[in-house]
Amino acid sequence: MPLKGQTALVTGGTRGIGRAIAEDLARMGANVAIGSRNLADAQEVAAAIAATGVKARGYGMDVSSASDVEAAFGAIKADFERLDILVNNAGITKDGLLIRMAPEDWDAVINVNLKSVFLCSREAVKMMSRQRYGRIVNISSVVAFTGNPGQVNYSASKAGMVGLTKTIAKEYASRGITVNAVAPGFIETAMTDKLSGDVKKQMLAAIPANKFGTVADVAAAVSFLCSPGAGYITGHVIHVNGGMYM
Ligand code: NAP
Repeated sequence: MPLKGQTALVTGGTRGIGRAIAEDLARMGANVAIGSRNLADAQEVAAAIAATGVKARGYGMDVSSASDVEAAFGAIKADFERLDILVNNAGITKDGLLIRMAPEDWDAVINVNLKSVFLCSREAVKMMSRQRYGRIVNISSVVAFTGNPGQVNYSASKAGMVGLTKTIAKEYASRGITVNAVAPGFIETAMTDKLSGDVKKQMLAAIPANKFGTVADVAAAVSFLCSPGAGYITGHVIHVNGGMYM
């Protein structure tokens, strides 16, 4: 139980990669706060995690809204009294080729995937600085490094996250806070389920491991970065992609 007594917030923790991360951190002993736009979903997942013996609560929050984020962090502070781990996982896609992309789809993806990391990290470091301890893990993507036709907004948001990760890592290293990113390749979740069979076939052909990743593969990398052994690692990106990009 290396994380016993610690509190973790996982944004977008109601399904897919985020839920697996929240469950893994709870298995390591952490108390868990789950954030998503859907309060009922967040409470349901939190109840399932609480049944395993840790404290867990769900919070309704749109991570792209400064007022929602401030309110959620206030509630988490009141409920848990500390925050040791922040996993910025919530994310969306609104794909389209550059020429056809509506400015609203650009803004929505940048706001949910990137502005959210700024808003949540800004709140988290207030608590973490006082504790002189914290771990922030940002869920980026392989497309931040490779680009991907049809994902000009998404790849920009995920690449922006890498620069932000390194900057916050430098700003807060002296206060015992590490900031890293995990960049998954193609992971089987609701987000990738909506891709066509042809696109999935093309993706598989580009993966040397010849299989898609699982949510557990990503959760394992996040848990490592939150574990005591990773305390001297900051400003880095761990790629979890079966060799798709190296
Ligand atoms: P998913 O199954 O679609 O889950 C997304 C989660 O984010 C849900 O819990 C969703 O809950 C939450 N969310 C979405 N918009 C939100 C908002 N505005 N405010 C708060 N929560 C919000 O996605 P996933 O595949 O697990 O992906 C998780 C992360 O990994 C994302 O950042 C994604 O970009 C990244 N990633 C995924 C893959 C992949 O292959 N799946 C690859 C690379 C990176 P609500 O809808 O209830 O708000």
